[in-house]
Amino acid sequence: SATAQEFDILVLGGGSGGYAAALRAVQLGFTVGLIEKGKLGGTCLHNGCIPTKALLHSAEIADGARDSEKYGVKASFESIDMAAVNAYKDGIIAGKYRGLQGLIKSKGITVIEGAGKLASQNTIDVDGTVYTGKHIILATGSFSRSLPGLEIGGKVITSDQALTMDFVPKTAIILGGGVIGCEFASVWKSFGVDVTIIEALPSLVPNEDASIVKNFERAFKKRGIKFNTGTRFKSVQQNDNGVVVSLEDGKTFEADLMLVAVGRGPVTQNLGYEEAGLTLDRGFVITNERLHTGVGSIYAIGDIVPGLQLAHRGFQQGIFVAEEIAGLKPVVVADLNIPKVTYSDPEIASVGYTEKAAREKFGDDRVETHEYNLAGNGKSSIIGTGGIVKLVREKDGPIVGVHMLGSRMGEQIGEAQLIVNWEAYPEDVAPLIHAHPTQNEALGEAHLALAGKPLHG
Ligand code: FAD
Repeated sequence: SATAQEFDILVLGGGSGGYAAALRAVQLGFTVGLIEKGKLGGTCLHNGCIPTKALLHSAEIADGARDSEKYGVKASFESIDMAAVNAYKDGIIAGKYRGLQGLIKSKGITVIEGAGKLASQNTIDVDGTVYTGKHIILATGSFSRSLPGLEIGGKVITSDQALTMDFVPKTAIILGGGVIGCEFASVWKSFGVDVTIIEALPSLVPNEDASIVKNFERAFKKRGIKFNTGTRFKSVQQNDNGVVVSLEDGKTFEADLMLVAVGRGPVTQNLGYEEAGLTLDRGFVITNERLHTGVGSIYAIGDIVPGLQLAHRGFQQGIFVAEEIAGLKPVVVADLNIPKVTYSDPEIASVGYTEKAAREKFGDDRVETHEYNLAGNGKSSIIGTGGIVKLVREKDGPIVGVHMLGSRMGEQIGEAQLIVNWEAYPEDVAPLIHAHPTQNEALGEAHLALAGKPLHG
């Protein structure tokens, strides 16, 4: 192989996890080589968070045009110009990508372009050149998974193709009612598509709190988004018109296309991981809670590590590992304390234990909950939306879960995240002042209620 190059830290993969690790590592004085075979920014910037949120914003504008008359504005919805929608979305991505490239360069991180493969506990082979790192951080991310025997291609697509479509289908089947499936259902419905979701588990977004889910499903139904839950996919046939999808319960559906959104698998195959001695479980890299693989000084972060597959988890794990290598003893990144948002209309935003999980953890009689209905919130009435804020508390103890449903509730997860991470009591939050009129007041009201002094509730 060609000339060897040595770094304190080699990072494999320049997505949310990898580039965050690299940035924190150079800040701590390490020399860093960041290996990326595609584009810095990874899934989140190019095929995930950012493009989906751009589409959701176009969707919101479309719904605004439809609803405008209600607010005394004469405008109307005509049609979706997919070329323009994509141009807007791609412009956002391009701007962020330029910014990230500039940032990485300005910090003195060495970007190594190419596909890397772990060659030993301290070396990575990038297309024939071997690089050495005293420490190695693996951050190779994830890909759209399919079901066994279900082939992607033609009119059976994943989120990767759905994000670059240059037309609006008339009808679409979405296989999988998780976050990604529900976000696309929301976008497409606003774009005028007749959408049907198929989900094997008994409900949509099954990891969220049950009463939030019930209200979310009601809101989706009201929007005309169809869904079949608790029913399994059997097969799909493609023809000139589109797809014919059969379920195990005998139902069939026809549509222009089918989006497969059944989860994401780790990118860990043929990368030398097992040969180097790492333990994989269904492809995921097993680490201890400090993200060490147990082999040499190799760490793993982001979507290849079992648990929540979220960009901000990857970022934080990247920062964590850089600090861990520096001996700073950072606080462990716990999935339970990570905020989660489903950016559909309406949005779901949550952090901490669901009511069910809290009952399992603390015991049935050791859990208190409160649900505040946004019908009582002034700002919600003005913007014409509803929803709920639900708190889960350990009896006589701290708030252990906050679950919110409603328009733009994701913007409020910051306060909820502090409350749960700082183990605040409702009595601590009750005297904090929430600006009027904001939807954020609902969070304040819910805490007032749990502290025994409901104001408007
Ligand atoms: P990735 O971002 O996947 O980055 C991995 C990088 O490694 C890639 O750039 C890849 O090219 C590179 N790589 C892989 N193998 C090699 C190799 N052998 N050599 C060199 N480079 C390699 N998360 C959120 O928090 N919020 C959202 O709103 C959100 N929306 C999403 C919407 C969609 C449609 C999808 C698909 C995902 C979404 N996610 C969201 C999830 C988020 O994108 C991921 O959790 C995040 O990107 C994971 O970061 P990562 O660094 O682990 O991996």
